[in-house]
Amino acid sequence: MADDYTAGNQRRRGMKCPICGVHSETIFARVLDANGTAHPMKPPRCGTCAEAWAEQNVFNRPKSYVIDSRVGPTTAEEMVFFRPYEEQMHNFKP
Ligand SMILES: [Zn+2]
Repeated sequence: MADDYTAGNQRRRGMKCPICGVHSETIFARVLDANGTAHPMKPPRCGTCAEAWAEQNVFNRPKSYVIDSRVGPTTAEEMVFFRPYEEQMHNFKP
């Protein structure tokens, strides 16, 4: 899989999470609860997926959130907020 390798064809640290498919440097095989009891996960997964798994399987909380990185269209309020910054950056040369 191409993205497991860097441009120099070196193997990247970590692996692709089998749950979400995102490359993660750290893969977790178990979750420890507050009492130090280990709860193994099969298959091992990235931190984000491990947290979601623990919420449902260790803490028995229903999944109450979804990670959603979608960005909607800029609102009128945001345009007002960003305008002074855009004016500052206009003609800016580093
Ligand atoms: Zn994952």
